[in-house]
Amino acid sequence: MSDCIFCKLANGVIPTATLYEDSLFRVILDANPATKGHCLILPKEHYANLWEMPEDLTAKAFVLARRIAAAMTEAMHCDGFNIVQNNGTAAGQTVFHFHIHLIPRYKDGPAIVANWPQSPLTDGDRDAILSAFRKVMAGKS
Ligand code: 5GP
Ligand code: ZN
Repeated sequence: MSDCIFCKLANGVIPTATLYEDSLFRVILDANPATKGHCLILPKEHYANLWEMPEDLTAKAFVLARRIAAAMTEAMHCDGFNIVQNNGTAAGQTVFHFHIHLIPRYKDGPAIVANWPQSPLTDGDRDAILSAFRKVMAGKS
């Protein structure tokens, strides 16, 4: 995708702070980090989101996420870690080239992702969700 910024970053067309690179992925520091060490895993091939990614590449991306998060924890002495992957505008995706956010968390750091407002699961929602989801899964087996 010639007009995709993440294609350019992932493939070195635009230089960027790179933590790691192999034949499939580049891991870069986010330009607007939520916390110190916030970085992004980018596949070198263009896929708009998780649904477009082949399963084997998705598996490799999440194995890499685990490795990078472990190394970043050691490097930055963070106290926790969020791994976030947004799909679609409604989910907060702003760049439509698949990426995984790796966000180190610090004991006294800002309240960010995973601090969303919650309310108890209602019986009606529980039943409707179970029924709709099971119908879809049954159609796939
Ligand atoms: P999204 O909201 O799509 O899940 O995340 C996009 C992320 O990409 C944001 O955290 C944003 O700061 C980061 N970002 C957008 N443009 C650039 C860029 O040109 N360079 C880098 N390093 N990060 C970028
Ligand atoms: Zn792209």
